[in-house]
Amino acid sequence: DLGSLALVNNDMFTRLESVANADSLTNLSTKRFLNLKLGQLTHHAEQTHKPLSVIIFDIDHFKRFNDTYGHLAGDEILKAVAKLLKSQLRHDDIAARYGGEEFVAVLPSTTKEDAVRIAEKIRVAIEQHPFLPGQGEGKTGPVTVTVSGGVAGHLIDGASSNEILGAADQALYLAKEKGRNQIVAFKSRYLSDDEDEDEVAAVTV
Ligand code: GH3
Ligand code: MG
Ligand code: MG
Repeated sequence: DLGSLALVNNDMFTRLESVANADSLTNLSTKRFLNLKLGQLTHHAEQTHKPLSVIIFDIDHFKRFNDTYGHLAGDEILKAVAKLLKSQLRHDDIAARYGGEEFVAVLPSTTKEDAVRIAEKIRVAIEQHPFLPGQGEGKTGPVTVTVSGGVAGHLIDGASSNEILGAADQALYLAKEKGRNQIVAFKSRYLSDDEDEDEVAAVTV
């Protein structure tokens, strides 16, 4: 009957939509979908007066990894990192593959402080995971993969999607500069004076 046909159609549409918005290697959201969603979520956060935070992760020395183990093994790492990332997030969070070996997590209703803790938990989970690339021919023992991360908070570090992502990206850059395998929270230099040493300020330009 028409009612169940509508349900089937609806279900099919939902599935088509999720395929279209998913990165084919990792099954995370695409950059396009994330940008669209982040705009909606910042708007919603403003209306409901709830916090919202963004984390950008980038795999450390991934070029070196590809050079050593091959591109296919690299792809396996990307899939495994995506799975670990997803497993640490909540249902309403968005996890996207933002670039080749770059991932973005959007955390609705999450303060920047909590997002830093979550980012750190994810960093540790990845560092401690025994990755086994090249299960076929180029078999290797477990290898360690690390990520660096930058965190930014909605309205604290920027209002628009671009501003928040830009702030998180600057913090990520600082995490790389400080030696990688660490999380840095974005901080404007104008607020940075009396903060402790571990949270170095990411400089606004
Ligand atoms: P850094 O710690 O500064 O981030 O160093 P990096 O080597 O990770 O950074 P760089 O930007 O120099 O290199 C990124 C590498 O990611 C190079 C590229 O081959 C690899 N990469 C990007 N997309 C893919 C992909 O889809 N599959 C594989 N296997 N590798 C990819
Ligand atoms: Mg990168
Ligand atoms: Mg990298």
